[in-house]
Amino acid sequence: MSDYLYTLESHLNAAQSEALATVQTAANEAGLNLFLAGGALRDMIAGFPIRDLNFVVEGNGIALAKAIVKKTGWEMAAPDTRRNRAELLFPQNVRVEIAMAREEKYAKAGAKPTISPATIYEDLRNRDFTINAIAMSLNRASKGLLIDPNNGLGDLERRELRTVSKYTFYDDPVRILRLIRFAKRFQFTIDERTLQQYENVRDANLERKIGAEALRQELHHIAGEPTSAEIVKELDDQGLLTLFCPAMMGDKVNHAGLQKLQKARQNVALELNLPVENMGLFLTVLCEKLAPKERAGLKTACALDKPAVQAWERLDGRVKKLAVELKQPKMTKPSVLYGAAQKAQGAELVYLLYKSTDRTVQDRIKNYLQKYLPAAQEITDEEISEATGIEPGSAKFEKAKSTFIAKRLDARPKKIVEPEAVMPPAPQHPPLVSSVRR
Ligand code: ATP
Ligand code: MG
Repeated sequence: MSDYLYTLESHLNAAQSEALATVQTAANEAGLNLFLAGGALRDMIAGFPIRDLNFVVEGNGIALAKAIVKKTGWEMAAPDTRRNRAELLFPQNVRVEIAMAREEKYAKAGAKPTISPATIYEDLRNRDFTINAIAMSLNRASKGLLIDPNNGLGDLERRELRTVSKYTFYDDPVRILRLIRFAKRFQFTIDERTLQQYENVRDANLERKIGAEALRQELHHIAGEPTSAEIVKELDDQGLLTLFCPAMMGDKVNHAGLQKLQKARQNVALELNLPVENMGLFLTVLCEKLAPKERAGLKTACALDKPAVQAWERLDGRVKKLAVELKQPKMTKPSVLYGAAQKAQGAELVYLLYKSTDRTVQDRIKNYLQKYLPAAQEITDEEISEATGIEPGSAKFEKAKSTFIAKRLDARPKKIVEPEAVMPPAPQHPPLVSSVRR
């Protein structure tokens, strides 16, 4: 087995491994060349936690995704017919992207590119940064072979962000926002020539060419970043935050709130199976100081659709009832607290942690996130089956499972203690881009 294949296998959790095997089998059956690329490979090599699995096929990406959906019943989201790519949501919150290997040609800065099918080598030449332009073959004859035409491996070792070509920012200016986001996430330095390219793009005001859809996608990425507060600060310092919302400047930007939210989010450990709808959560806090008219500016600039707006604007109202419920005396019993908190969405729990000044509510949410939910998730169906004699897959089993979990939780020490944060605090970054342009 190649070293990289071994590294990959030891990096994936059980659910991700299963998703990988499923995609591999489907590509094999369709006779398509399959590669793992982008963020998944970068994170694996650098030893960062792998968040999504980005696959590339030399062929029809959406057709392969559809074949997988047909076979497994897993959910498909966001098919992008232009780029021939789709996202799949596998069980246990595993997100998979399947994309056609493609070439993108830009007639002018910020223009819609012409897209055509390509080989993996051509595809990697079209990416943004060298560290994102590495692929690994998952094909039988060359499994584990690394394809790295831009020496992304070297840049990962140097902890440096470098564009793949001198036209990277010019072709698609949204990449300057990605540069800032990755620099803040990884605390990588920026290669000198890349910084010069950034300056050139800013001097030509090409950031104005970034379209609403690209801004929405970038906002979505920022919302999910553990260091979102630092990213917003840098965007503000660089005068780029107003792209997302014209009124977002000066003391209208809720920097202190974003720092507080960042801290609250650290209570949800990465390995916990609890989806958090970050966009609504992030926008609620980011836009706290904006007037309704100013908020409308963000909706237009980022072309937010109705569900996204609702997730944002209704969050504050939704948690009010939950706060009252969590304060009830009966919540000292772990199984009762678990039952109540389980009905709430991840974003609601985190938002309440951010918002509530009530110590009891705070402690109870922390207990749920750090003790009761992890303990309940440790219990396997086999364990329950063995103890109860009921096979999984029936309503009777689900009921037995709830009783089993409740008993297990109530058997734990009931004393409520203030838990420690389960994730290390977000690092404080030295200024990277800020040092260049002020
Ligand atoms: P994350 O960990 O945030 O998901 P990622 O690197 O996987 O980071 P994605 O936005 O998921 O980023 O995109 C997957 C890959 O697609 C990237 O690694 C990069 O190679 C490529 N990519 C995405 N957006 C662009 C873009 N605007 N220009 C060029 N390449 C891009
Ligand atoms: Mg990704």
